[in-house]
Amino acid sequence: MTVPWWKQPGRVDRVRTRAVVVGAGVAGLSAAMHLERRGIRPIVLERHRVASGASGRNAGFLMRGAAESYAVACDELGRETARHAWRFTEENIRALRDLGVALTPGYRDRPSCLLALNDAEAHDLERSASLMAEDGFEAPFITTGDDDAWKNASPLCGLVNPHDAVCDPQEVMTLLASKLDAEIRTNAEVAAINTSPDRVEVVTHDAVFEADIVLLCVNAWARTLSPALAKLVEPNRAQMLALDAPGAKLDMAYYANEGGEYIRAGEGGVVLVGGCRRFDIEAERTLADEATESVQSGIEAFAERVLGRRYPVLRRWSGPMGFSPDGLPIVGRLSELSPGGTAETRGGPVYFCGGFTGHGMSMGHLTARDAVEYALDDRPMPWSISRFSGRSPG
Ligand SMILES: Cc1cc2nc3c(=O)[nH]c(=O)nc-3n(C[C@H](O)[C@H](O)[C@H](O)COP(=O)(O)OP(=O)(O)OC[C@H]3O[C@@H](n4cnc5c(N)ncnc54)[C@H](O)[C@@H]3O)c2cc1C
Repeated sequence: MTVPWWKQPGRVDRVRTRAVVVGAGVAGLSAAMHLERRGIRPIVLERHRVASGASGRNAGFLMRGAAESYAVACDELGRETARHAWRFTEENIRALRDLGVALTPGYRDRPSCLLALNDAEAHDLERSASLMAEDGFEAPFITTGDDDAWKNASPLCGLVNPHDAVCDPQEVMTLLASKLDAEIRTNAEVAAINTSPDRVEVVTHDAVFEADIVLLCVNAWARTLSPALAKLVEPNRAQMLALDAPGAKLDMAYYANEGGEYIRAGEGGVVLVGGCRRFDIEAERTLADEATESVQSGIEAFAERVLGRRYPVLRRWSGPMGFSPDGLPIVGRLSELSPGGTAETRGGPVYFCGGFTGHGMSMGHLTARDAVEYALDDRPMPWSISRFSGRSPG
């Protein structure tokens, strides 16, 4: 890009601030809000616009649970952690409602339902339903329904999250941004973070921000700012499309094939559907924003299976998700990954909040609260980055 005379090349503003938040998605906006509640007004730096990442591109499921089913989460993470994660997502949805999300035009109270389309998943959902009942969750296990999904896809059974909701994620991000006093600088891509033991410099093309605390809320882009995070947060593209389907009837927001596919009714006869990463799993490990033929045709075939016919496609798009090794969020100070070394390699007072593994709308708001409390009070939290300490930087 050429530089006009009025913007003197080489002129860089220096800004002193207590806290910088990098990224204006659900995590960054929520982190800024929680910092403000603690009396700190941060500066939010965003490379494009508010919600230009996954937070403005997702399916708008405000859903209980994490990447795996409850039964698999109990097996892999332990019962206590699974129970906590499910309660946490319930609490996250409540907290968003308390902020006024339920008053945004695209919000609907709508149960979500995990559908089993094969025997293995049916067994898994049955086991999940009984474990959830034992752990005190309301989780109806159903075998019939009378909308398109039950008529056409012939699921064997379904597990319902009765108190879930759906939303227009752009509206939700606009609401979160409107609640901030903090300055949100857009078109402010962070190019480098220079650390010393007690201070950080955050560098953009025209300013250097000197801060006591930096919160990286860049999720899928983590590796572009921290080599230490490269092995922990893997970028994975998710693709979606919108159908003009005025005749479609979907009573719940559906998840199928272990969360690999998802479909729900939007407003005005639109149906939103996405998934099918497994059709091109290697190529989808990318930050590139592109809708590809192999994945999109898989999504269309899934929609046809559920809706019983083809509908015209109104739009196709993609967005970047950040996957963590265990499917749970990651919060903490980068220095916890490699306690030895210099301030530069340890990361100084730089914190990360992300790795939502496709569930950031369900977890991001309160995970950001925990990240802020951890940064300010050193308060222990469930999703601590320290569970990965010792992993060598990628
Ligand atoms: C297609 C799709 C469907 C999904 N469906 C759902 C769903 O229904 N329910 C659900 O719970 N989750 C869903 N997710 C996941 C959810 O959207 C994410 O987990 C969540 O939005 C992550 O929020 P975030 O704030 O951490 O990251 P993001 O929203 O991605 O925000 C990160 C921000 O950081 C900015 N940034 C990056 N690098 C820099 C830099 N160097 N300098 C400055 N800024 C930078 C980016 O521009 C971006 O705005 C979906 C994701 C996708 C892609």
